[in-house]
Amino acid sequence: MNIILLGPPGAGKGTQAQRLEKTYKIVQISTGDMLRARKKAGDALGQELSSIMAAGNLVPDVLIIRMLAERIEQPDAANGFILDGFPRTVPQAEALDAMLVSKDLKLAAVIELKVDEEELVQRIAGRYSCAKCGSGYHDLYQKPEKTGVCDKCGATEFIRREDDKPEAVRNRLKVYHDQTAPILPYYTAKGLLQTVDGMAPIDDVSHAIESLLKKVA
Ligand code: ADP
Ligand code: ADP
Ligand code: ZN
Repeated sequence: MNIILLGPPGAGKGTQAQRLEKTYKIVQISTGDMLRARKKAGDALGQELSSIMAAGNLVPDVLIIRMLAERIEQPDAANGFILDGFPRTVPQAEALDAMLVSKDLKLAAVIELKVDEEELVQRIAGRYSCAKCGSGYHDLYQKPEKTGVCDKCGATEFIRREDDKPEAVRNRLKVYHDQTAPILPYYTAKGLLQTVDGMAPIDDVSHAIESLLKKVA
């Protein structure tokens, strides 16, 4: 099963993708995580990515499309994938379609998580993740069971994203409205778009996604 999770920064895409991975034994493909890993190389491309991402702008389509094409070729994606953070522009959505056609793959659903702007700001302000395994947490909404210890891997170091600072967040929300929201009608026209109330608690959002997937997959 192949799924796209769409929604503004902080909507809960990563959180839900991590759960869907377990439930459906399919792999989460987060272009944001891939770019953050690529940045670490510290070479010329890494530095360019750093400055684009720190400002909350999108990296060029050609680059991200190539990255994604290579990623879905990996053996762990053979059973299906959850795209988290891709596509983010209409050209990316079109490129994805071409890739799927050439591999004879189909999308089960494109799931939009709808969340009010004020709530997004709260979520991003409290977001952090495990430095070792990347599991996502929130200061108030999604605390680890044992304070300071990652539920998944037991690590005790956590990180906050540079682009989760208020100035970059404002720009990321604008970029979402200007460049990513136009792909919603693109998927509506294909009969694939499903909207879920992303304001609900994490478990409720998961249940809503599972019940809609039961209908389409
Ligand atoms: P995205 O991947 O869409 O940017 P995340 O999954 O990283 O969003 O979620 C942003 C923050 O909000 C995280 O700290 C996460 O723990 C928290 N969060 C996610 N979903 C919910 C929810 N339904 N209710 C409250 N907090 C949530
Ligand atoms: P969030 O879910 O909070 O919006 P992501 O982790 O998905 O954040 O993305 C972080 C940053 O990585 C984006 O602001 C952008 O700079 C870059 N990025 C991630 N995915 C893409 C993409 N598909 N196209 C262009 N840039 C991307
Ligand atoms: Zn961990």
